[in-house]
Amino acid sequence: MKQAWRKYLAARAPRYTSYPSALQFSTAVDDKVYQEALSRVSLYEPISIYVHVPFCKQLCWYCGCNMRVENHYDRALDYVDSLIGETRLVSAALAGRGRPSSVHFGGGTPNYLETDEIARILDAIECEFGLTDDARLAIELDPRLIKRGHLAELARLGFSRVSFGVQDFDPDVQLAINRVQSFELIESCVCDAREAGIEDVSFDLLYGLPRQTPATFAATIEKTIALGPDRVSIFGYAHLPAALPRQRMIRDRELPDTDGRAELSLMADEKLVAAGYGRIGFDHYAKPGNSLFSAACAGALRRNFQGFTDDVATTMIGLGASAISFASGVYAQNAKTVKQYAACIAEGRLPTERGVVRTERDEAYAKLIAELLCQRDADLEEAGRILSGGEIDNIKQCVMPFVRDGVVTFDAARIRMAPGARELSRAVAAAFDPYAGAAPALARVV
Ligand code: SF4
Repeated sequence: MKQAWRKYLAARAPRYTSYPSALQFSTAVDDKVYQEALSRVSLYEPISIYVHVPFCKQLCWYCGCNMRVENHYDRALDYVDSLIGETRLVSAALAGRGRPSSVHFGGGTPNYLETDEIARILDAIECEFGLTDDARLAIELDPRLIKRGHLAELARLGFSRVSFGVQDFDPDVQLAINRVQSFELIESCVCDAREAGIEDVSFDLLYGLPRQTPATFAATIEKTIALGPDRVSIFGYAHLPAALPRQRMIRDRELPDTDGRAELSLMADEKLVAAGYGRIGFDHYAKPGNSLFSAACAGALRRNFQGFTDDVATTMIGLGASAISFASGVYAQNAKTVKQYAACIAEGRLPTERGVVRTERDEAYAKLIAELLCQRDADLEEAGRILSGGEIDNIKQCVMPFVRDGVVTFDAARIRMAPGARELSRAVAAAFDPYAGAAPALARVV
C-alpha cells in the first residue's frame, strides 16, 4: 500500500453491516412497527434467518459481542424455549410470506448449545417458516467446545458451512487475549468437518491483538494456509476499553500501533493472495470455486450483518436477544438482555426494542456505500435519481482528498476504488456518509 494512503487506515469508520448503522436506532421502532413491516414482506421474497446464541463458557478479553458467560445450562434451555416462541410470533406476523434461503447461527457461542437444542430450533424454523431443502445452514463454532462426532452431527442436521473462531495461533497472543486453543485442536476440527462432508470451512482471524508481531502473525497466516479453509476473514481488533470494560484486561502497551496494524494486515493479505485466495470486499478471502468467490467475480457480492455474503435475501429475520432484523425498509433490534427478551416472548409480543425506518434518501446512500464496499465501484448517476444535485456535488467534494491521493477516481457518473485500495473503502464511504460524524468508532463484533 502506498505510504500516502496509510493515514486513512487509522480513520474510524462504521462497519456498514447495516445502513443506517445501529447508532441511528431509536425506540421509535417498536414491536408494532416491526410487525407491520413483516406484514408487507412479499409472498416469495427470499428470507435470511439469523439465530443469536448469547452464551459462552469463558470470556475472551477482546470480545465485542453481546454475550454472557453462563454456567447454568438450564438457563440456555429456557432461552431455546424463548427462541422457539419467537419463531411462532414472527411466523404469525409473516402469515406465510417469504421463503427462507439461509439460516445462520451466531453468537456468543452457538455450540454452547448441545446439538439436540440446535435441532429443536431448526425444527421450529422449518415448521414455522417452511425451510426448503436447498436452504443453506451455517454456524459459528468455538473450537474449544467441539467434541468428538460433533461436526458429523451438525452435518447430519444439514449444516454445510462452519466458521471457526481462530483469531491467532500464537500461544503468547492467546494468553494475552484469554483464548487458548492449540493448533492441533483447530487441525482436528478442520479434519472432522471435512470428513463429515461440510463443504465450506471458514476461519475468523484478528489482527491488531496484543503481542502480535509481523513474525508471529506471519506464522498464524502460514498455519491457516496449511489447513486450507475455504474462506478466511481477517478483522481488525477495535480496542474500546471505555465502552467495553472487559477489554481493560488487555494492556494498551502490548498493542501494535497504527503502522504496526497496517503491516500485519498487508502482510496477511500478501500471503493469502500468494497462496491462491481471492480478495473479497475489504476483509474477506475465499478460494476460487467457493460461492463467495464466484459471487464477487459475478458482481453479486452483498453486505449484511454477517459481513460480505453471497446470500440473495433482502429480508433478514433476527431471532434472539439483541438480534437485528430488516424487513420492508425497517431495521428492528430485539431487547438486548436475555431477561428482557424472554419477558417479551412470555407476554406473547415481538421483543423489538429499537430500530430505524430507512428513508428513500437512506436507500440511495445504502446502495452507493454497498457498491463501493462490495464492487469498489459506486454509481453516482443512479444515486442522482433520488439525491439532489447539491448532495451529489457534496459527495464529490467529500471524496476529493482521496482523489488527490489516488485512492479513488471519479467522473460524472461513478466513484471507483483504485487497485490496492480496498481496505480504504470504508474510510471513503465514511467521508460522504451523512451519519458518519455521529458514528466515529464502531467496533467489530467478533
Ligand atoms: S469472542 Fe466469541 S467465544 Fe469469546 S467471549 Fe466473545 S462471543 Fe464468546
